This record gives sequence, structure tokens and C-alpha cells, in this order.
Amino acid sequence: MKRLLLDLTPDELKLAVSPDYRSRQLFQFIYRQYGENFNALTTFPKKIRAALDCEFTIEAVKIAKKQNADDGSIKYLFRLNDDLAIESVALLMRGENADLRAANWTVCVSTQVGCKVGCAFCLSGKRGFFRNLTAGEIAAQVLMVKKDLGLSAEKAVNVVYMGMGEPLDNIENLRKAVSIISAESGLNISPRRQTVSTSGIAPKIDLLGAMKLGVLLAISLHAVDDGTRNQLIPMNKAFNIARLLESVRRFPIDLRKRVMFEYLMLKGINDSLSHANKLIRLLNGIRAKVNLIVFNPYIGSEFERPDQRSIEAFQRCLLGSGLFCTVRVPRGAEIDAACGQLQERQIVSCET
Ligand code: SF4
Repeated sequence: MKRLLLDLTPDELKLAVSPDYRSRQLFQFIYRQYGENFNALTTFPKKIRAALDCEFTIEAVKIAKKQNADDGSIKYLFRLNDDLAIESVALLMRGENADLRAANWTVCVSTQVGCKVGCAFCLSGKRGFFRNLTAGEIAAQVLMVKKDLGLSAEKAVNVVYMGMGEPLDNIENLRKAVSIISAESGLNISPRRQTVSTSGIAPKIDLLGAMKLGVLLAISLHAVDDGTRNQLIPMNKAFNIARLLESVRRFPIDLRKRVMFEYLMLKGINDSLSHANKLIRLLNGIRAKVNLIVFNPYIGSEFERPDQRSIEAFQRCLLGSGLFCTVRVPRGAEIDAACGQLQERQIVSCET
């Protein structure tokens, strides 16, 4: 079976393709010229192209389906080489009327097919776990989205590891993906533009910090007491809120940046002013910003969307305490592209 070329970092590629200038050209061909097959690598002699073609494949993911939302967000269903499917979302960060190739984009990528964590509000959690993505399959999502959007090689995007899966449950491939995505001769996306979002595997947050990758951290908190969080994110029973926040306080982060706390607002569960006040106390002393995400109900979900009044009151309370706080009106809500709800209704079969 052929190896996936995108799984190689620039240093690994140097070992596989010599001399160095050839490996650099090849890396640029893939990540800067969006090259998809070795025949188009016309700067290489035919013999080398044939040898590469025998050993490697460039293609990691194929677009199986695309859905456009009114707000400009685009949800991609990607088919992997083993026919499993994953999702990525391109979130448009500036107005709809902007030139889309000049606009700011955030690409939300998957790190696993399925997920073991089993959050109560998440479609992926309900379906179980299939497999980890390789580093190349993670990087390929950014590459394919950039290519599909028609973005130039120089145009940087933000990357959030927040799609299907728990990134820290696939931490070695995550580490490698960050290094591939950051490589100057390729996508050249600074780690400071890359955010790892976790449901809270506290010891792995420590491990990620020790890796000194320079990435930003986002925590899916969603509750302010262990009883509620145990219900929403069963892993809280192993690493409760106090333990999780200990790891967050230790995490090395650029002093100009903040740790993002994602808080999915669920009607009658975690959306009252007393929850807001408890959140303020919990985050005391952490350079935090809070992103309130309004739950986007899906067919069969047991949770409801909170009232607009509760959302506004909750936000006012946090802002009044001096916390940075935004409300995410789920971008792409009509395409189920809100956080924790990215998941396509079909994982194994993605025939369209
Ligand atoms: S919200 Fe994230 S961590 Fe939780 S089950 Fe879904 S994919 Fe896994």
C-alpha cells in the first residue's frame, strides 16, 4: 500500500527524497501550488516522478459534499481513502460582501473519525469511535479548504482543532499536524493562529503544554458544577472542573493571548444568572475569554435553545465582571455547523 506523502514533515521528507532542494520543491508543490498528482511536477525528471508515484499518494481526502450557509460558512464532508468520512467547516470571519479570497477564514478541522468522549449534546459522541486521523489527514483538510476557497498560498487562515473527535486523544498525530501546518515552506500558518480545543483531558493538557508547540488553548467547559458537567461530558468524572482548571492555569500561553472557554448554553441546564456568577468565580485569575455558544437543536436532541433574554443577561453579567465574552450565534446553524454539532449524519458511508 502506498504511503501518504502528507504524513511527512519537511524533515521526514528530506529523508525520503534527496537532495534537499528536491524535497523542498516537492513540499512546496503540495502545499503552495496545491499539486495533486506527480505528473504535474514537471520540474522533476520523469524517473523521479515515477518512483514517487510508486511509493506515495498525495491524495488524503476528497470533497464528497459541500453545504453553504447564508452567513458564508461552508461545511465540507470529506471522504478518506478508506471510505470513512469526516467534516470540516470554513467559517467566514468577515461580512458576507467582502471579497471572499481576501476575507478572514477559520478552518475547523476534525482529528478523529467519531469520538470516544461521548458528550451528551453531540452527534459524534452518540456514534462512537472509528479511528484516529493521521497527521496528513488533518493537514489535508486545511489544504483542501484553502484550495477550494481559491485562497492564495500566501493567505493565512486560522485553524481550530474542534471538528469531529477529541484532539488530545490523538495527541501525537496532532503534534505532527501542527508542525506540518506551521512549516514555512508549506502552509506557513503560525502556531499562534492554531487553537486546540479540548473537552478537558487534564493530564494531556499538561502534556500539550510540555510539547511547547505555541498553540492556543480552548476548553469546552459547558458547566460550572461537577454534577452538571458529569452529565454533559462524562470524562468530568475522571478529571473534574477543579483538576481541569489546575492544568489550564499551568498551560504556557503567550501573555498577549487568552484561554478560550467554550460554554454551550442549554435552556434550563446552565443558562441562569447564578451559573454566570459561578463561572466568574471559577475563572478568577485566569487570562480567559468566554465564548457563549447558543445550542442549535437537532432532530432527536434532548436539549433546547435558551431564550434570547437569558443569553443577553448571561453575557451582561460576565462583561460586567470584566471578563471578555462573546456570543456565538451559531455560524452555519442551518447547516448544523455549530460547535459539537458539526457531525454529518452519516459517518461510514458518504456516497452522494
Ligand atoms: S463535543 Fe467533541 S469531545 Fe464531545 S463527543 Fe463531540 S466530538 Fe467528542
